[in-house]
Amino acid sequence: MNRSAGNVTSGPGSPGPATYELFALRYATRNGRRPEFFLGGDPHDVPMSIDYFVWLARSADHVCLIDTGFNQAMAGKRRREFLRDPIDALDLLEVTPDLIDDVILTHFHYDHAGNFDRFPKSRFHVQDHEMAFATGRHMVHRVFRAPYEVDEVTGLVRMVYDGRVTFHDGDAEIASGLTVHHAGGHTAGMQFVRVHTARGWVVVASDVSHFYANFQENRPLPQVFHVGDTVEGYRRLREMAPTEDHIVPGHDPLVMQKYSSPSARLEGIVVRLDAAPRVTT
Ligand SMILES: [Zn+2]
Repeated sequence: MNRSAGNVTSGPGSPGPATYELFALRYATRNGRRPEFFLGGDPHDVPMSIDYFVWLARSADHVCLIDTGFNQAMAGKRRREFLRDPIDALDLLEVTPDLIDDVILTHFHYDHAGNFDRFPKSRFHVQDHEMAFATGRHMVHRVFRAPYEVDEVTGLVRMVYDGRVTFHDGDAEIASGLTVHHAGGHTAGMQFVRVHTARGWVVVASDVSHFYANFQENRPLPQVFHVGDTVEGYRRLREMAPTEDHIVPGHDPLVMQKYSSPSARLEGIVVRLDAAPRVTT
């Protein structure tokens, strides 16, 4: 447990943070309409789709998966269009689950914390507030529990009892060049991840900001636990990123357009976030 932001930077004389490759892997999608993604709606009632991602950070000696996605059965239950199994698809990046050292769960919603039982060796990193939220008084209310799956939450509790989980309270360093930051709002225990790459620190916002428009226009999604904390989270993202082009929202289809695929074979499936975007915001 670590409350000190000072521990997440390199000290004088240190060799500097490790550098990671960073990928977004798109595994599902859904067609919606623009007003459903902004609190108070939107005057433009036009189609707007939402993509589902997991993110992989890899250095010379460390592999970290950020969120674990959902599986085909959950896609059917929640009526999402399932494009590929996100864990099997890691094979496209020559990664298998047993090679993943750390799994960071940004929060426990079904689209971020499914598949948690498929990583035999990984250590899981969660915020204190998220476990308390997902197992506490607010889950009495359907509005807050709807995006959670009780079998996943209880499965994560079992992981705690198996000694597989590391809890964080605020800012923490997972490894050199890899830090997490609490930004409650969408959920009480939401965290985002900062990854040191060849183009500097990249902020994987996950659902601190679903779309670019949420943080750029300070317009929260309607599905929020706390509106004030959500908007404060947008400020935190900007504070932790060198430029807005270093912030990667959690569900925006624009991510696939802005960034390049590592190879023609991975076009439309994987993009590199550690290389500068081809389109700037
Ligand atoms: Zn989400």
